[in-house]
Amino acid sequence: MKALENSNIDSNELCQKIRNGEYLEEEIINSLRILGIQGRWDEVWNVSHALGIEISWIQDAEGAVFVDLGSSGEVRLSAPIGAVLPFQLWIHTHPWTAYWSFTDRTALRNFAGLLEVAIVLGNDHWKRSRCRLTMGQTLPDGIEDPLNMWTDEEIQQYPVVSEVMA
Ligand SMILES: [Zn+2]
Repeated sequence: MKALENSNIDSNELCQKIRNGEYLEEEIINSLRILGIQGRWDEVWNVSHALGIEISWIQDAEGAVFVDLGSSGEVRLSAPIGAVLPFQLWIHTHPWTAYWSFTDRTALRNFAGLLEVAIVLGNDHWKRSRCRLTMGQTLPDGIEDPLNMWTDEEIQQYPVVSEVMA
């Protein structure tokens, strides 16, 4: 893994390869890892759309990135083998519209204090939620719903600005 951040990924070419059925899963996963690190999340969505599946992208406590190619159904947030909690960022794609689905809201509840930022990607927009807890902090007494520990933010248009990664 050398200079990943500087790798030059052509996501249009990758989508074309996918449509032609000429791709290796390893190439897709590597490309998605890099596109995510480079903050090119609209292109991550494009690749997921070409594949017809939902993608999950996790950056762990040490900055390592884990990509999971889901099925055409909803991807779930789970801790990949070797990943270190708490996670810095979890991004996943939806087929078209970005919102917190029932499954996603369950994930946010379960990962309150274990995940800093969650982002869901749609076709031309995305949605973010940030955990208000200090990482590693357990849920304070009197909190009825852990979902209340997450910010409720407006839908945003691409491109994703870099402050999200800060
Ligand atoms: Zn979702």
